[in-house]
Amino acid sequence: MRIALFGDIHANLEALEAVLQDASQQAVTDYVCMGDIVGYNADPAACLEIVRAMDAPTVKGNHDNDAAGNHSLDNMNLIAAAALVWTRSQLSEEQRLWLQRLRMVRQVSNFTVVHSTLDQPANWNYVTNRFDAISNFSFQFTQLCFHGHTHVPRVYLKTDKVDELEPGIIPIEADSKYFVNVGSVGQPRDGDWRACYVIYDLHKATIEFRRIEYDIEKTQAKIIAAGLPKMLAERIAEGR
Ligand code: ZN
Repeated sequence: MRIALFGDIHANLEALEAVLQDASQQAVTDYVCMGDIVGYNADPAACLEIVRAMDAPTVKGNHDNDAAGNHSLDNMNLIAAAALVWTRSQLSEEQRLWLQRLRMVRQVSNFTVVHSTLDQPANWNYVTNRFDAISNFSFQFTQLCFHGHTHVPRVYLKTDKVDELEPGIIPIEADSKYFVNVGSVGQPRDGDWRACYVIYDLHKATIEFRRIEYDIEKTQAKIIAAGLPKMLAERIAEGR
C-alpha cells in the first residue's frame, strides 16, 4: 500500500491536477485528503468535484467549514474573508452541504487524519512548534497522525521527548509517534511555491515529501480574472 496524503488544496486546480498526476506515476494505491479543498483560489467547484469523485477519506478544514456555512466572517482576515464570500457564491447548495458533512477526524488504516490538531480540532489551532505538538500527542492513539492547516510541511517526532524533523524521506521507527504536516497543495507557505504532498509507504515504512511544479501562471490569471484579491495571485508565487 502506498497512500498519497494531500490537503490545503485551496481551489488551486492546476496544483491539484499536477499532484494527482505525480501520485499516479508513483504507484500510489490510495488517497486521503486533509481538508481545505476550497478558499483563496479560483476553482473551488472543480477541486471539490475531483476530490469527491475520488471517494477518498477526507476531513473538514476551516475554509471548508466557512464556505459551507452562512455565518459571519468578521473574525477572519479581510483577504481570506473576501475569497470565502466569493467561494460561497461559486458552490451549489448541494456542494456546500457535502463540505458541511465532512468529518473533523478520521481513522484510516493504522493512522489518524485531522485538519489542524487532535486536541480541540474544531478550534483550528495552529501547530507551529514542538510545544504545540505536545498537546496533540496527548490525544494521538495511533503511531501516525497526518494533518495540515499551517501550509508548512513538517514532522513532529515523539520518543521520550518531542523533536521537529525537516521534510524529506523519513523512516518510521517502532516505539516512536509521528505527527506529520503534509504541507499544502495549492498555497504553500514555506518559501517554496511548488505543490506539496506526502506518500506513506506501509510496506517500506517510510513517509516521503514530494514537491511538484505546476502551471502557476494559469492559476494566477484565473485568480485575477475572477476578481479575487491580487495578493492571492502574488503569494502563491512566493510560497507564503
Ligand atoms: Zn488551509
